[in-house]
Amino acid sequence: MPSLQSVISCLSDYDPSALRVDQANTIIRNVLEPVQGIEQLAIRAALDRVLADDVISPIDVPAHDNSAMDGYGFASQAAQDTAGDVVLEVIGTAYAGKAFEGAPTSAQAVRIMTGAVMPNGCDTVVPQELVDIQAGGNQIRFSRDAVRPGDNRRLRGEDLARGQAALSAGRILTPADLGLLASLGVAEIRVRRRLRVAFFSTGNELRSIGEALDPGCVYDSNRYTLHGMLRRLNVDLIDMGVVRDDPDAMEVAFRSACENADAIITSGGVSVGDADYTKQIMAKLGDVTFWKIAMRPGRPMAFGRIGSNGHEAMLFGLPGNPVAVMVTFYNFVRPALHRMMGASAAALPRVRVRSATPIRKRPGRTEYQRGIVAAGPNGELEVRITGQQGSGVLRSMSEANCFIVLGHDQESVEIGDMVEVVLFHGLI
Ligand code: AMP
Ligand code: MG
Repeated sequence: MPSLQSVISCLSDYDPSALRVDQANTIIRNVLEPVQGIEQLAIRAALDRVLADDVISPIDVPAHDNSAMDGYGFASQAAQDTAGDVVLEVIGTAYAGKAFEGAPTSAQAVRIMTGAVMPNGCDTVVPQELVDIQAGGNQIRFSRDAVRPGDNRRLRGEDLARGQAALSAGRILTPADLGLLASLGVAEIRVRRRLRVAFFSTGNELRSIGEALDPGCVYDSNRYTLHGMLRRLNVDLIDMGVVRDDPDAMEVAFRSACENADAIITSGGVSVGDADYTKQIMAKLGDVTFWKIAMRPGRPMAFGRIGSNGHEAMLFGLPGNPVAVMVTFYNFVRPALHRMMGASAAALPRVRVRSATPIRKRPGRTEYQRGIVAAGPNGELEVRITGQQGSGVLRSMSEANCFIVLGHDQESVEIGDMVEVVLFHGLI
């Protein structure tokens, strides 16, 4: 694994006290490597797991040309050669799972059900709604213009051809993917092992739920937002609660986290002014940098690799403020954990919508305002910021359905300006 120093030395304008969001992400990405270890799982158990190898389709899907409708299969040439209505003799039925064995002539048709194999020589299906049934069901008549050649026929291999890559390594498996694998007859697949992530909160003012809230104290909420965000990533969680600001307790916690996890996430204690031991112990145990990132919220952050007794883990020291924790998690930790999981997940998609409110913004930092995207008066989507945007105001996050991302160089936004948003749907 490359050292932090060697990665940082490749950046031309590295300034740890005013690091741009994209620079921080570049450093993190270049230091990290996917963990090794693979498991073989039944496809049901593989939902949300990371595919270890490409899956090549062993068969054509569908395996035969078949009908997309309930109707009548026939050879389209017959209809092409007819001037008025097409009249065909019905000589049998093709069911899904029970093909029609004969070979109709150009004057004949076969009643066919959705999914049934196309009879020999038939290339088109006329839907049953478009035909007149005559001669007690033995004959059909329909307009020449009712269908074009090839209509309502699904071609063999049109979904996936044999030998084609159905899914690529690094994919996080979705419900659709499980169905796709089943459609190939694949029962088990190889996935990357789950990532183990330890996390704890630091700060002497923190109280756990159930404890008395002494004067000047707050309940530890980061433990719960981190729990929720990590659950969404389908990692194994090691929840270490609150660790007191005492050098021995801190060191024990970091060492135990190192020995049991691939990554450690802490919150609090990494600000420049912070008098606690968090930063000291982080630096003592490994190769850690302390950044001030040009962003809001979420300015202070520690990143690096720490070790104990031959075990190493990546460290993400997030700020303490509850909203800053969520913003830094989504910007830095989520892509980092994806990389460690071997996932090739793309960056979160950004959508441009009109701002229904003015937003104050200072150039020189990236801001993540919390917003609500909804249809405006003319039916088009627009976004407005949720109330108080302070980095401690978790309610602004809870009410929001998106981040409004205001780029590094962007200035204040006027009503009606287009802004970029990242929707929370499926994320938060
Ligand atoms: P820090 O980054 O440690 O200076 O903390 C910044 C602010 O976030 C302080 O007001 C802390 O009380 C608050 N804070 C830190 N950790 C937590 C936590 N786990 N839950 C809720 N608030 C926190
Ligand atoms: Mg603190």
